[in-house]
This record gives sequence, C-alpha cells and structure tokens, in this order.
Amino acid sequence: MIEKDRKYIWHPFTQQKNMADPIAIIRGEGTLLIDADNNTYIDAISSWWVNLHGHAHPYIAGKLYQQAMQLEQVIFAGFTHQPAIDLAERLIDILPGNFAKIFYSDNGSTSTEVALKMAVQYWWNQRKNDVDVKKKNKLLALKNAYHGDTFGAMSVSERSVFTMAFHDLLFEVIFIDAPAADNIEATKELIASHSDEIAAFIYEPLVQGAGGIQMYEATMLDELLSIVQQHDIICIADEVMTGFGRTGKLFCSEYMQNKPDIICLSKGLTGGTMALGVTACTEKIYNAYVNDDKLKTFFHGHSFTANPLACTAALASLDLLLKEECLKQIDWLTEQNKLFAETLLTAEFPVRLKNIRTQGTILAFEIAEGKDEYLNNVSTVFTKKALAHGIYLRPLGNTVYIMPPYCITEEEYERVKEVIIAILIEN
Ligand SMILES: *Cc1c(COP(=O)(O)O)cnc(C)c1O
Repeated sequence: MIEKDRKYIWHPFTQQKNMADPIAIIRGEGTLLIDADNNTYIDAISSWWVNLHGHAHPYIAGKLYQQAMQLEQVIFAGFTHQPAIDLAERLIDILPGNFAKIFYSDNGSTSTEVALKMAVQYWWNQRKNDVDVKKKNKLLALKNAYHGDTFGAMSVSERSVFTMAFHDLLFEVIFIDAPAADNIEATKELIASHSDEIAAFIYEPLVQGAGGIQMYEATMLDELLSIVQQHDIICIADEVMTGFGRTGKLFCSEYMQNKPDIICLSKGLTGGTMALGVTACTEKIYNAYVNDDKLKTFFHGHSFTANPLACTAALASLDLLLKEECLKQIDWLTEQNKLFAETLLTAEFPVRLKNIRTQGTILAFEIAEGKDEYLNNVSTVFTKKALAHGIYLRPLGNTVYIMPPYCITEEEYERVKEVIIAILIEN
C-alpha cells in the first residue's frame, strides 16, 4: 500500500519531500484506528476534529446502508428528499438563535464561503441604485482566524504560512484582535469608523481552532457581538469545529446572549462520517433574496449539495448525540479535561508548558520551545512519540491538544494522559 501511495498520492498539508511513510489504516472501532500490522491508535484528535461517536459506528453505518439502497444522490435544484428536509427541520430546532433556513454544501470551507457570499449579497440585494453598490461589502474578522482553504475563506483567515503564496490575490479584510478587556475599546472605535462599509463579521466563537486552539472569553465575545450588531453588521458564527458539543454545549453560540445571523457547520455534523456543510440563516437574511428580480437570486450550489447519504449520516449522528448517555459523556470529558489541566499546571517537567487551557471537550497547551508557530518542529516529534505509544496526536506547531471522540472510555482517556505526561518527561 505504501509503495503505491507514494507513487500516486499527494497528501494534504504535508511537505512531500522526506515525508514519513503514512500509516495505512485498515479499520476503525470506537476511538481506535487499526493499521495493517494490527497496531491500534487511540484517535485523540477525532481524525481532524470530525469524529464524535467513534469510527465505523454500526448505527450510522446501518442507516447509511439503508439510504444507499434507496437513493444515493439527486440534483437539489428542482428536487428534494426526506433526509435533507428532516435534517433542516431538526437543525433549526436545536440551533441557538432564530434560524429559518438551511443552505447545504460539502464541507467547512464551502459553508463559510457560502456564508460570506450570502452576507455580501444581502446588502447588494438592497442597493437602491448603482452608486450604492460599493457600500457594505467589507468583511470584519479576527486576527489568528481560520475559516478554510478556498479563496474567500482564506481571505478572512489570518495571513499565515497557509496563505502566504496567495496574499496578493486575497481580498481586503479588516482584522481585529480576539476580544479582551484591554482591546475592546479600541476595537469599538475601529468598528464605528468603518461601520457603513462592513457587511459582516465572521468569527470562530471562543476557540480559534487551526490558529492554535486559542481560547477567549464568552463575556468579551458577547460584548463585541453587541457592538457589531449595534452597527447593523451581519454576524457569522463559524461553528465548523465548535458545533455539536465540542465546547461543552451543543453549540458554542449558546454561551453568548447575542446570537449570530448566520451559522456555519461541518466537521461533527455527520458524526465525522461524510462530507457535508451547512450554512443556516435567519428569516431576515433569507427575505432579502425573495424577490421578483431574478438578479437577487443566490447563485450558488455544488454538485453534491444536500447529498442524501451525508444528510442521513447527520441525522443518525444527531440521534446518538442527543441521547442522555452522550450528553453525559460530554460533561464527563469536560470534567476530565479540567482535572488534566490541573495536573499539568502543578507538575514539573523538563520543558516549560504555557497557557494550559480547556473549553469543553478540548484541552490545549504550548510547549515553550522554539517559536509559537505552525512550522515548529515539536509537532513532528510529538506525533511520532505518541504513535509509538499507541496514541494519535497531531500538535499544531508547539501547541499540543486533545479533542477526543465523545465515546472515549475512562481507560483510554487515562492512557492518553499517561502518554502525554511520559513524552513531556522524556523531553
Ligand atoms: C476545519 C475548519 C474549516 C474548514 O473546514 P473544511 O471541511 O476543512 O474545509 C472552517 N472553519 C473552521 C473553524 C474549521 O475548524
């Protein structure tokens, strides 16, 4: 397998030169990934933050099989189907805020891309004459943000090693600091001075994922949202990573009083089984598109929009997620993370740890070694050592974190802790 992989495949986010052999995974079960030599690895980062209930979950697999035998895919313009309708209804029921409509796409990047276009065109649709057209078309975003890899999503993300080759091609964005007591006044002024040109504000609520699992306070975000909303700026919550229980509540936006106008979902949406994106919006946003003027149509869609299999997987994942048992497991994991953070805070290691933090099922800290950046070599070394101990971890530079599937057992969690501590001691 490895020989053919090397011959034919180009892997994501990976420098191909001197690339370590990838590990061929044959099957998964619960939190475990099992390779061709029968080694098992606890998937402590939920396979890039997507898996909620464990791998190859028989309930989701069964539902998928039934749906695949009935209808695998159909064009979603002029047609509809039960899984898409059921999923939209159930999401609108549980999303925090007054959401009215669900727009489907394929992944996290497309869900944010759709949100940005939806917000910009919302204002464009309300233009009175051509002079007005240029107004309200700028975007506001947080420094250190990550919203995906397509061009719009890259534009509203931090200018970083990920985007460096494309800087000249990215559109202009007003970046502000993640809200904190010492910058909120300056941010308030900045927003006020640009308010008539800003169409929308996009943010990862409370946890900036790919930017190094950086966390900030709910009270501060709430204050920022209230400022933004006073200026009639559309709020887009990118809950691609934080959705579906990750931060301890079903959706992270529940921590704030001020709710978004648009919400983006993917990753955990299908329990991590299939690619699917959702952009939900309020009636207000939607109504700006309902018009006799055909130019006010939202001209966006993807071949696999609302794929029936993906929607079915999402429905099955929701069944599992909303069970008492799973919600309890999320609370338990939240507690375990707090305890683990305490342990890390009080223990002595040969390396210094910085900024030990948790938010729900996520725990992160930095190893104070080299620069705080994605290319920091801590990542490669840590991943290799953890794999040798049967744990899959993938630090972002020198940011070590865990984000396990909710079904992780007590023994497995203990094992993850032991291995992290052992690596830190070895260091
Ligand atoms: C992963 C991620 C995305 C991009 O999702 P993809 O499915 O990888 O395209 C967007 N926003 C956030 C917050 C993410 O964590």
